[in-house]
Amino acid sequence: MSDEIVYLDHSATTPTDPRVVEVMLPYFTTQFGNPASLHSIGKAAGRAEQEARAKIAAVLGCDPSELIFTSGGTESDNLALIGVAHAMKARNRGNHIITTSVEHHAVYDVAKMLETDGFEVTYLPVDAYGRVMAAQVADALRPETVLVSVMYANNEVGTVNPIAEIGALLRSKRVLFHVDAVQAPGLLPLNVKALSVDLMSLSSHKFYGPKGIGLLYTRRATPLAPQMIGGTQQAHRRAGTEPVVLIVGMAEALALAEAEREETVARLLPLRDALIEKVQAAVPEALLTGHPTERLPGHTSFALMGLNGDSLLLDLNEMGIAASGGSACTTGQQEPSHVFLAMGVDPDRLMGQVRFVLGKHSTMAHVDRLVYQLAALAERHRKMVPDVR
Ligand code: PLP
Repeated sequence: MSDEIVYLDHSATTPTDPRVVEVMLPYFTTQFGNPASLHSIGKAAGRAEQEARAKIAAVLGCDPSELIFTSGGTESDNLALIGVAHAMKARNRGNHIITTSVEHHAVYDVAKMLETDGFEVTYLPVDAYGRVMAAQVADALRPETVLVSVMYANNEVGTVNPIAEIGALLRSKRVLFHVDAVQAPGLLPLNVKALSVDLMSLSSHKFYGPKGIGLLYTRRATPLAPQMIGGTQQAHRRAGTEPVVLIVGMAEALALAEAEREETVARLLPLRDALIEKVQAAVPEALLTGHPTERLPGHTSFALMGLNGDSLLLDLNEMGIAASGGSACTTGQQEPSHVFLAMGVDPDRLMGQVRFVLGKHSTMAHVDRLVYQLAALAERHRKMVPDVR
């Protein structure tokens, strides 16, 4: 068997595309300027930032000035929720926020924090697949609702939400709509007008761009209280010197992800469906979690009956297969995932969470190697039950 590590954790992060690295290189050395500087080296960096803005705006279908660069998905989500909540509070516009019970912690925990800050938050329940429906959002709206935040695709179970439908509803009601689209680039359409979103979070390292950079699309005239202050950069919406090298890399990665999206999806879909079928045939404990079809093209996730997902994943790592349970951000936590709990997963399966997420370089040989090792390990762990429970 080959020594190559089979990486099946593309929802956690992706390697930077060599074409992206190539484009970034000059901005580490010769083109190192600060875009705020008046001299020519600074001006050149400023032009590079503007070009990157235009490139990203072309993918999102927005104006370049509507983009705020951040340090990643977490900061974008924090800025969207806290920024809108505080700006609306200052305008006495209401104190009610709607989100879902399966959001990433970068939204979920911020919503919890806003509750301690005088806001009322409705956490919409989800169906057994982890989905919310536009009708639920409509029912939860109040005159004092200032923001709705719904994730595009769930990082733990891969389920895709009906964002365009929810967006159309909220636009007609004139309620602001934030979407955590961190898992979407290169896999789902991102046009902010077609989706009718007002704010959208992206994180570069999820789509073969560099780590440490993300963005928040903020529709023109959306009230937003800045969270990073102490500078005039980015039209006062996010202080701090722009990391031009990372911005240029993210723009290239997003342009590539969008240009290759159809081809990527066409390649991933049959691989994903084969993985699901083969795992379920080889491991009787494995139950698919998330929606069977309305799910990210490379995403598979399972709840294993009576087995411990984390200990199985550690053994899989020994076999050269890298995968995660739920969110990479909560690894090591001995508690069941809030997503599984919200979906009503059977208690005997709660600790059996595993996720195998395919990427651009995944092959059927990788799928087969995973299935072979997983079946062998499940057999071994089955014998160890109840110790591993
Ligand atoms: N939102 C979702 C849906 C995610 O999957 C992640 C990362 O896993 C984040 C937000 C946070 O992004 P970052 O790690 O870039 O801060």
